[in-house]
Amino acid sequence: CGIVGILGTTPVASMIVEGLKRLEYRGYDSAGVATLEHGHLERRRAEGKLRNLEARLREQPLDGHIGIGHTRWATHGKPTERNAHPHATDKLAVVHNGIIENFRELRAELEADGVRFESETDTEVVAQYVTREMRRTNDPVAAVAASLRRFRGAFALGFVFDGQEDLLIGARRGAPLAIGWGEGEMYLGSDALALAPFTDTITYLEEGDWVVLRRDGAEIRDENNQVVSRAKQKSAAGA
Ligand code: GLU
Repeated sequence: CGIVGILGTTPVASMIVEGLKRLEYRGYDSAGVATLEHGHLERRRAEGKLRNLEARLREQPLDGHIGIGHTRWATHGKPTERNAHPHATDKLAVVHNGIIENFRELRAELEADGVRFESETDTEVVAQYVTREMRRTNDPVAAVAASLRRFRGAFALGFVFDGQEDLLIGARRGAPLAIGWGEGEMYLGSDALALAPFTDTITYLEEGDWVVLRRDGAEIRDENNQVVSRAKQKSAAGA
């Protein structure tokens, strides 16, 4: 339901929760955060309100400077911690708004290939599909590009990758997604409101766009994988 991603210069977990709070108005049933801790992915997830996730983060803090977070409105799979986002493998973590319409077909294909699933969600298919591509290419950007061609439905996605401290990937198809520009930091969010605590300089992705974010900027591609430029706008959301 809500997505926040941050390529930061200080610990990002509490910033991500702050951004997610701005999206609470959309409604949600569970929430989670994934960050890179000394280069390796770690997650904290909780059923219910963001204060449950905050309590989890107090018990087991995350200090990473890059991460993604999500508030989930369950469409496939009960609103449990196990089904909460981010969904993760040894290679990556992903957050997702919307629905992957062909997830049953993709799940069957992956299971036939020996992949074992941990959740009941359509989203985990994204995590496992991109992971399988990465085992072939070892290239996160190429793996996401190849995978996006297989997903049907309406979605926004945000990815972080194990061992990749300066890489966040976002994709938009049928669900809004925006980039925020900071001082040596970059942000990804469902809308400008989610990013208002950090920046008022926003670029909205257009339908079919996907973006490779690094701390020094963004490379946006359209659905045909052509590099495109999208305007920066001043958001009033922070005012
Ligand atoms: N379809 C996904 C799920 O049920 C994402 C739902 C959402 O947009 O929060 O986990």
